[in-house]
Amino acid sequence: MIHQLFASHAWLPEGWANDVLLEWDAEGSLHSVVQNAVPPAAVEQQHMVLPGMINLHSHAFQRAMGGLTERAGDGPDSFWTWRDLMYRFARHITPDHMAAIAAQLYAECLRHGYTSVCEFHYIHRQPDGAWYPRMANCAEHILQGARQSGIGITMLPVLYSWANFGEQPLRAEQNRFQSSVDDILRLVDQLGVHRSAQVEVGAAPHSLRAASIGQIRELLAGMPAERPIHIHIAEQIREVNDCITFSGERPLALLAGQLGLSPRWTLVHATHLSEEELKYLAGSGAVAGLCPTTEANLGDGLFTLPEYMAQHGRFGIGSDSHVSTSPVEELRWLEYGQRLSYQRRNISLVPGQKRVADGLWQQALIGGAQASGRRVGSLEPGKRADLLVLDADHPNLFDSEPDDRLARWLFSGNDNLVRDVMVGGQWKVRFGRHVEQPQISANYRATLAQLGKLRQHAA
Ligand SMILES: [Zn+2]
Repeated sequence: MIHQLFASHAWLPEGWANDVLLEWDAEGSLHSVVQNAVPPAAVEQQHMVLPGMINLHSHAFQRAMGGLTERAGDGPDSFWTWRDLMYRFARHITPDHMAAIAAQLYAECLRHGYTSVCEFHYIHRQPDGAWYPRMANCAEHILQGARQSGIGITMLPVLYSWANFGEQPLRAEQNRFQSSVDDILRLVDQLGVHRSAQVEVGAAPHSLRAASIGQIRELLAGMPAERPIHIHIAEQIREVNDCITFSGERPLALLAGQLGLSPRWTLVHATHLSEEELKYLAGSGAVAGLCPTTEANLGDGLFTLPEYMAQHGRFGIGSDSHVSTSPVEELRWLEYGQRLSYQRRNISLVPGQKRVADGLWQQALIGGAQASGRRVGSLEPGKRADLLVLDADHPNLFDSEPDDRLARWLFSGNDNLVRDVMVGGQWKVRFGRHVEQPQISANYRATLAQLGKLRQHAA
């Protein structure tokens, strides 16, 4: 059976096209995209259709901490004091909680136009540090949340062995994350049964703090070729300085010099790079994973985007700690951070392209798709039927010329203009509501109540 949708305006790889007929198969993959088509009888028609965005960096459980870390401590607060709070939060979470939080988070991501997520997953063990009888238990509960919401997912089990450079032993509050290369390869193997057009499995050395170069080399040797590899690279100045003290090199230079980088790599929080590192990254074909709202929330710093884009560097966006679940907000703050820093306007430009919003959206699609290792990110034959429909009846989009549509969406107002969202050929959001929202919300509410009790108990 053929499934069809007609869009009077659709965002194709070369930009806006008119009267586009999309057709996909029973598995939810597009097999035909035709411009200037005549709408067949009885086919659903939409006005403004875009490919769904890829959220390339997520720690799903942190969604439940949103807003709980904004109270000042006794000394100056930093990424590192935030991390202590996050560890305390992670201590009590059960696999069922993880599934409920993930479903809520992913439903919110879908409502804002993300149709794929890369889950950087590091809570592997039970609170006492023992493995669950099935090693992949926690990761599989996250996959359950993804399935309930309908989002496409790249699961990245995280290699986490050390507390800092030079193989410093983990602290007690990191014991749920503890994993060896063999553990991660076993996890990747167990998770393999879930691989499909909706689910990919890669791996993620947490950082050069938590995984040594030797371990990463071993992990790469054991991984199936071409599966995505993600790592946190240079989020904090302290981390960069610790790396220099340990090795004489900055983190990205160390990783690149020892192992090389290639398009299978995503470097999350490439915040603090030297000019040479930035140039190397841009030329390597790897993706810079940028998470502007979290990086702002944690006081990380700003990535030097204009120099990177001028060198044709690839990037995508992620919601990371989920203080925002909207690609609009990530892209807006990506550009605004640069404007505030350089005191100029219209900065994030692809060479030869003048429209900031169009370039940001398209580049984030390309980089995000590459990071996911899945066939997503554009409306083309062979890709997933993952798309969003903008609310053409919203005043921000009244009477909009093609050249202005994305800018009016990304750079004006706070209403969510995403009205409908389809993943793998199935509608998951209709008229702004997720199709499973009542059940997902009820589970999330019960989870928060339980977590609150557990925290009070522990206090
Ligand atoms: Zn992260």
